[in-house]
Amino acid sequence: MAAERIDGKAFAAKLRGQIAAEVAKLKEGHGITPGLAVILVGEDPASEVYVRNKGRQTLEVGMNSYEYKLDADTSQADLMALVDKLNADPAVHGILCQFPVPDHLDEARIIAAISPEKDVDGLHVLSAGLLATGQKGLVSCTPLGCLMLLRDYLGSLSGLEAVVVGRSNLVGKPLAQLLLGDNCTVTIAHSRTRDLPDVVRRADIVVAAVGRPEMVTGDWIKPGATVIDVGINRIDAPERGTNEDGSVKTRLVGDVEYDSAAAVAGAITPVPGGVGPMTIACLLANTVTACCRSNGLPEPKGLTV
Ligand code: NAP
Repeated sequence: MAAERIDGKAFAAKLRGQIAAEVAKLKEGHGITPGLAVILVGEDPASEVYVRNKGRQTLEVGMNSYEYKLDADTSQADLMALVDKLNADPAVHGILCQFPVPDHLDEARIIAAISPEKDVDGLHVLSAGLLATGQKGLVSCTPLGCLMLLRDYLGSLSGLEAVVVGRSNLVGKPLAQLLLGDNCTVTIAHSRTRDLPDVVRRADIVVAAVGRPEMVTGDWIKPGATVIDVGINRIDAPERGTNEDGSVKTRLVGDVEYDSAAAVAGAITPVPGGVGPMTIACLLANTVTACCRSNGLPEPKGLTV
């Protein structure tokens, strides 16, 4: 039987609706509008698209969006001064610096400078430490989105075997912590893992966050498993023809070979339309959570763990 398709696009739309309702309540009940500040350094075209989408969706849910587009040669000192200013600004509840930044800038220092209360990307060491010790902090957006999809589809995750392939600070590690928090038995696999297909075959929940197109194939999947594909990879698609400039058209694929995995799995996220749309929705959710916490208001249910 073919796997159920986990529709992240629809779930994200529903989540944004809930966020918009919470924002309206904050405005009407308390005169507070949550605000998200996004910093972009340089002119990386992919980053410009991400930042534009974040800004648009922030406004759509009724929040304030503050965009800071800085020249590629901005100094570390000027960037740190901007972060300090935003940390001190009570109208800003979330701060995000779009990575990668140009080589002369130190990402770790930028992350460390953001106030943990406004760290809506969940990358600060304090955010990671709070998550690892089971305390309340702000959780990275993509892992939070994956957990929401899993809870929605499976209900309780307690006792399930989860294998997370990938150990980045952005996705693999925080997601493993979240799954552990939900009482899964968690294995984190990576590029040095031996017999990776055998390890993945144990899993009731498979998360692929690797960055290698269609690496995980159906013969790695235990029948009935739930598969979350975080990967976003652009590959050549000669079957789609060529662009006006003669270059081959491309398409997006995940880290999982969808068709072969869907023939075995119980449920699977597609790419695009699975985890991707959840990331920005969770960024907005984190901004509302941060806003409520900083104003001493109760946090809306369902926007964080
Ligand atoms: P990353 O920092 O490059 O980490 C990749 C991880 O995969 C590393 O831990 C690496 O292991 C592991 N890996 C690489 N090759 C492997 C192999 N052959 N077998 C097993 N493990 C292997 O990537 P990331 O930032 O976590 O992103 C992963 C993917 O998710 C990318 O496609 C990215 O575009 C996508 N992504 C999507 C979203 C979204 O919104 N949907 C958000 C973030 C990222 P080592 O540690 O041993 O090197």
